[in-house]
Amino acid sequence: MIVATRKPIEEIIGFLAPYDSILILGCGTCVTVCNSGGEREVALIHSALRVAQTKGLLDGKRFHEYTVKRQCDNEFLEAIKGKSYEVDAILTLACGVGVQVLAEFFPHVVCIPGLNTLFMGSSSKLGIWDERCAGCGDCRLYETGGICPITRCAKGILNGPCGGSKDGKCEVDREMDCGWIMIYERLLKLGRVQTLRTYVPPREYSLKKKPKRVMIA
Ligand code: SF4
Ligand code: SF4
Repeated sequence: MIVATRKPIEEIIGFLAPYDSILILGCGTCVTVCNSGGEREVALIHSALRVAQTKGLLDGKRFHEYTVKRQCDNEFLEAIKGKSYEVDAILTLACGVGVQVLAEFFPHVVCIPGLNTLFMGSSSKLGIWDERCAGCGDCRLYETGGICPITRCAKGILNGPCGGSKDGKCEVDREMDCGWIMIYERLLKLGRVQTLRTYVPPREYSLKKKPKRVMIA
């Protein structure tokens, strides 16, 4: 899933200054799971903006709330087509993909990002989210026992470890487990440690060219 965090309220208030009628739009998928952009967060940001109004900020502005199942899918944006003509800006609590799909779908409305999109990842403990995939386009998880060397090694090394790890910790951050020690231990458990004897050639950087597009029939 995509992990994002809310922008500071001061930044959001600054963005909203030129607009009078604002729809705060949540997204019911990834950002709901990571507690940054779902129905609950829409209500929270709405309250924070009302508090700002009691302090004389955002005077006279009108706010509306709504949450769609997914902002990155036109199908779900149909539900707010009517509302979009009643507002002059949408404060969206979706990831960067959702914001862009929204902006394309409603070219007549200003779309304001309320979140900072961080990475694709998962939750390892309550309230903690870790990056797990960088979308490199050339997945190496078979050779590495299901542990991503790009995101879990600080240097993104394909033929690791680098030699700097100590007591299983990364030399870049001693609090962080060394991705390559984890890969080694996992392959050992699976009886596949010989896999590491095979040299992995440098990554195919042409796969990183932007913008990417894939056609799936
Ligand atoms: S190797 Fe890592 S970054 Fe690349 S696709 Fe696989 S999980 Fe994602
Ligand atoms: S210590 Fe391990 S995780 Fe850190 S940079 Fe070296 S190989 Fe990568």
